[in-house]
Amino acid sequence: ADGLPLIMCTDCGLRRVVRCKSQHKWSLCQIFYCCPLHKRGGSSCPFWYWKEEYVDFLASRGLLPASANTYTRAGSMMVAESKYGVG
Ligand SMILES: [Zn+2]
Repeated sequence: ADGLPLIMCTDCGLRRVVRCKSQHKWSLCQIFYCCPLHKRGGSSCPFWYWKEEYVDFLASRGLLPASANTYTRAGSMMVAESKYGVG
């Protein structure tokens, strides 16, 4: 566990987001957070963040516990680059 809170999805508001581990070889075992209603390539809920992005998302909304502040900005550069390859 990394101590990040699992919030209710802010896009559809129907489900609590879940913590997942990437199965892609270009990002193997990287942690991401998404809505259970998110479907890759579909038109369903768009909520989907890499862990570092989710941390920033929580921080921007004041939802980040103080104990998790050490995660902020860690690996942000790498995430910013890979994000554009995902589509
Ligand atoms: Zn959702």
